Parts: sequence; structure tokens; C-alpha cells
Amino acid sequence: MMTTKRDYYEILGVSRDASLEEIKKAYRKLALKFHPDRVPESEKKYAEEKFKEISEAYAVLSDPQKRKLYDTYGHAGIDSRFTEQDIFRGADFSSIFEDLGFGSIFEDFFSDLGFDFFGTSTRRRSSQRRAFRGRHIEVETELSLEDIVKPAEKTITFYKNEVCPTCRGEGTKPGTSKITCPVCKGKGVVYQSAGFIRFGQTCLECKGKGWIISKPCPECKGQGFVRKKKTLTVKIPAGIKDGSSLRIRGEGEQAPGGAGDLYVFVRIKPHPLFKREGDDLLTEAKISLVKAVLGGEIEVPTLDGKVRMSVPSGTQPQTLFRLKGKGLPNLHSSRRGDLFVRVNVEIPKKLSSREKVLFEELARLRGERVSESFADKIKRTFK
Ligand SMILES: [Zn+2]
Ligand SMILES: [Zn+2]
Repeated sequence: MMTTKRDYYEILGVSRDASLEEIKKAYRKLALKFHPDRVPESEKKYAEEKFKEISEAYAVLSDPQKRKLYDTYGHAGIDSRFTEQDIFRGADFSSIFEDLGFGSIFEDFFSDLGFDFFGTSTRRRSSQRRAFRGRHIEVETELSLEDIVKPAEKTITFYKNEVCPTCRGEGTKPGTSKITCPVCKGKGVVYQSAGFIRFGQTCLECKGKGWIISKPCPECKGQGFVRKKKTLTVKIPAGIKDGSSLRIRGEGEQAPGGAGDLYVFVRIKPHPLFKREGDDLLTEAKISLVKAVLGGEIEVPTLDGKVRMSVPSGTQPQTLFRLKGKGLPNLHSSRRGDLFVRVNVEIPKKLSSREKVLFEELARLRGERVSESFADKIKRTFK
């Protein structure tokens, strides 16, 4: 039976002078549309055929030599020189599929169709390109408010996987190498026949990798990585907020596909004296009754040490004073927040007899009636 092949340009819907970029783009779009996993069961067969057709068109038009042959001689120029497998060989499918984020699905699909598009020789290269990046690591670090008044350096200790120095991540004993999987002969897929249908399954022996390690590296037991304790000094910006995280690129788990990142999760310890309110701080200070009445100076804690603050005469309980620039540094500028000081007026619980006399005199002076029992009351209350 003769089948007529459609024009490759027509299949991809591109013009005859389309650039490689345009061809890739068109193929990508169609590959997504006809991905057999994305169509209903009833359309699977059709999608598979379409997928084969667009892949072939792409394989030819993305290869300058094959494209030239096709432009000059048409299908005959290709079919007379290449076997079906050779048409696909060398075409860059993996970067397109990798981009699409489901590289292995496509590779499986090709294998399942009975094509070895990636070839045994290119399989290793493509599997390396698809290799996983190391996982991210999260560590927590705790800082006090004092720590973040200025940019700080914090030493962090954590464990991570590093590429095994003995085998450089290969997992094989030095001097030996990975061997082609004897079960699937390196294809990563095992084919089975059921009647007329031949289908492929991921090889269980090598888990689809196509190779196995016969002599594992003694240091990493064939894992390719080793667990290492790491100490790292991390720069903490002044004024950092509780719950923020700092990302340190490339300090996560190492893997053949590159290292992951380290996330340092910052916790700010609650402070016994200061409550944080953005860049501002709130604290409380005691003031004696006399100073509240007459005014004077009191000592106030700040993150930079104690300072003296003057209070005016007639200061009321719970008055809020503001010390400008005594808060925390702003994360994004050099400006510092303020420190709010709430004053608590202390009423003396004990009076000397001389003080008692003076208070009584004060009461008389202010015309406040002090009953005779007042002195007794004071005695009862304060002693
Ligand atoms: Zn090793
Ligand atoms: Zn195998």
C-alpha cells in the first residue's frame, strides 16, 4: 500500500523560509496539542500518528543538511538516504521537551513507539541534561533584636549531600564504570508482545536509566553523593523581619544537575524589654511620683544601651514619649525607627514618718481633707 506523505512545511504550518526558531516554536505548539497523554482515549491513536508526523517534519526541517535535501528533492531526497530512525537521529528533541517540563514523558513515548530517537549513544547525554537539581535546604536561625541593629554575620551549621569526591558523583568504584543494563540492553525500556501489539515498559533492573553500577564506589555506596556537615557564615541585613528567609544560591543539596539553594529562615527572639512594631520599638519605664509631679530625668533602656530621657512636670501615667531614631534600622534605607517609651508612675508603697508628715501637709495645702483615720489607714495599707 502506498501512502502519500504530506509536505513537511505544511505539517508544521510554517513558510518555506521559516527560521529554525519558527520551526521549533511551531513544533512545540503542535507537540503539546498532540501529546498522547493530553487527548481522550478515543483520540490516542490519531494523536500518536500526528505526533509521529510532526516529529518527523521537525527532525528534517531542524537539520540544515536534511532540510536542504528535502528542499531540493522532496521526500525522495530524505527517504532514499535515511532510514526512519536516521531521520530522527541527531534532532534536538530533548531541549524542547525539557523546556516543556515533561522530558521523560516524551522520551518514554518515543521508546514506546518503538523508536530509539535518542539513541543509546545520546541517551547518557540527554539523561545528564535532564538530571535533577539538588533539593533546596531550609535552616532556621534565631537572632535577638540587638543582633539586627547592625548588619550581622551568623554562622550556620547544617548537613547536605555533596557530590562524592571519590567517584565524582558517578557512584562507581574508581577505575570501573557503569555498565549497560543487561536486561534492557541500555534502552531503559523492555518490550513485550501481546498478540499484534508490542508495548514498552520501563526496565525494572535499571529503572529506565539504561545502565547499572556493578562495582559501587566504597565511599558513597554507589549513591554518588555523601552527607557532609557544613558551616557557613551568612550575612544578615540590619532590621530584618521575623519570618523572612534569605536565599543563598547553590548551597543546597548537590546533585548531577546542579546544586539547590539554601534558605535561611530568620526568627527574631521575643525581647524581654522591647516590643517590635515594624521599625519602631515600644518599651516601658518607671517614673517616681515626685518626678511625675516635678519633672526630671529618667533612665530608659534602648538597644544601644541606657539613655537619659527628661520628662516634664505633671507627667501623667501611661504617657507615651518618643525617642527619635532609637528604633530598628529600616531594611531598605539607612533610616532608623523610633523608640516609644510608656511611663508608669510609681506610687510609693512605703512612706517614712517624715514623708508622711509632708504628704499630710501637702494635702492641707491643697485643701484636700484628710480624715483623722487617714494616718491609720496608711499604717494599715503600707505596713
Ligand atoms: Zn562515590
Ligand atoms: Zn535496564
